[in-house]
Amino acid sequence: MPERYRVVANFGAAVAVLDEARKVHQAVPLTKLPQLVAGDQVECEQESGATSLRVVKLVDRDGVLSRIDHRGKPKPLAANVSHLAIVSASKPGIDPLLIDQFCIAAELAGIDAMVVINKSDLLDDEQHEQCLAMLEVYKAIGYPAVLVDTKSEGKLEPLITELAGKTVVLVGASGVGKSSIVQQLLPDLDVRVGAISAATGFGAHTTSVTFWYELGSGGSIIDSPGVRQFSVAHLSAQDVRRGYLELVDAAQMCKFSNCSHVVEPNCAVKAAVSAGSIAQWRYDNYRKLAEL
Ligand code: GDP
Ligand code: ZN
Repeated sequence: MPERYRVVANFGAAVAVLDEARKVHQAVPLTKLPQLVAGDQVECEQESGATSLRVVKLVDRDGVLSRIDHRGKPKPLAANVSHLAIVSASKPGIDPLLIDQFCIAAELAGIDAMVVINKSDLLDDEQHEQCLAMLEVYKAIGYPAVLVDTKSEGKLEPLITELAGKTVVLVGASGVGKSSIVQQLLPDLDVRVGAISAATGFGAHTTSVTFWYELGSGGSIIDSPGVRQFSVAHLSAQDVRRGYLELVDAAQMCKFSNCSHVVEPNCAVKAAVSAGSIAQWRYDNYRKLAEL
């Protein structure tokens, strides 16, 4: 009987897989299988006399994060991702338009989003209030949203709590603190990478290989500089309309089913913005991104 394993890293010719007892093995996929990525669940068999396992089946994926290659084809970066953790920070600057773009990209990929504002230590009282108000808007839409700081004791707790039971990939602009967050979440990173390297015989160059790591909370994180640099491909007006969840909700009451929420009469979205139940800045971002 084949057994179920988790792909924790892909080294090209072989992958590192984790068994249910958390032991790392080297495994070689059958050539008919698609390219495996970190987070994949697979079935493996032990062939007699072989030093590595044989991956015989890829279990259906749920929540695939892909990048578009130079031929315009999606190339999976990580699988079974439940949440995109969108990281932003006061330095280099909180960019709600970019956060919204990532929320839309997550929605299109069938992945939930969560909003993380880092470097709360750099905020003055007024900025702190503004951040909390912004996070409340995201929470009201249904996105988990937390304010954290990696430099002060205990200030990453809200994120750690939120990660329980989820599989996340951290994304966001350079310099917002993604590596710092990973270092805090996985203080034993070198040890883990060393264990994978020892079990598989592959020198695990952390700069190029994407790893799946289990967190203490029952959650997991899929990480590599490559996956952190996941960026938003061009979003069509239709994508944007689909990705603003609170607008989609309100739009059910618009007079016209194809309402753009700009010039049409009896528009429930515009009414909700006027009434304050949809944030003005989310609506403004929607118009910017949909080019309306
Ligand atoms: P990345 O490019 O998103 O991976 O960002 P890094 O983790 O490399 O962090 C960029 C810079 O921000 C580094 O100098 C960090 O020391 C700093 N940094 C990270 N988190 C915090 C924080 O919570 N507060 C402050 N003040 N600086 C931080
Ligand atoms: Zn409308």
